[in-house]
Amino acid sequence: PNFSDLGLSEWATQTCLELGMKKPTQVQRYCIPKILAGNDVLGIAHTGSGKTAAFVLPILHSLADDPYGVLALVVTPTRELAFQLAEQFRALGSSLHVRCTVVVGGMDMITQSKALIQRPHIVITTPGRIKVLLEDNPDISSVFSRTKFLVLDEADRVLDVDFEEELRVIFKWLPKKRQTLLFSASKSGDLQALLELSSNKAFCFEA
Ligand code: AMP
Repeated sequence: PNFSDLGLSEWATQTCLELGMKKPTQVQRYCIPKILAGNDVLGIAHTGSGKTAAFVLPILHSLADDPYGVLALVVTPTRELAFQLAEQFRALGSSLHVRCTVVVGGMDMITQSKALIQRPHIVITTPGRIKVLLEDNPDISSVFSRTKFLVLDEADRVLDVDFEEELRVIFKWLPKKRQTLLFSASKSGDLQALLELSSNKAFCFEA
């Protein structure tokens, strides 16, 4: 199959071609239709498998339908990964004028708060920084009232470093009705448990 067979719009297929992505990888073939159909997904996949585009493309597809409010909150363990994710959102979303904000430690909190209040389409963050912002500022907590996707990228590492408290705060401010997308190098009971918090049907991809 090619990208258009997975249910993505023409612009997405075209952008993939321009970026040299001719055929979807295995994780993309499995996850993209499931995410487009509104399901939760646990993808067990390594860097290099194409896992990032497996969630970025369906999120961008959904953005084209509903460009109001923060559509997706993406949580990743490190600052470097956060910036790399933003690059992929910008590259794959180049024809949509996607507004993407990275919120990580080491940057000015006031600037970050202002950026969030502008309601970018996509917010990419590390667990510690978003927790502080959510707890300290009531204006920020309402920023996520329409968020449809929560992504945990490198989810095993996010859970590993004991971000339980941070995740609790994040979950508190996201709508209950949302899709949860977890991508991880390994499978664990904790990841399964996260999916059980949601009422969506959940699918697991494992190569
Ligand atoms: P990831 O596994 O998400 O870290 O992606 C690894 C690299 O593969 C990235 O640089 C992507 O641009 C590239 N990539 C993702 N999907 C495809 C595809 N379908 N065909 C060719 N390259 C891809």
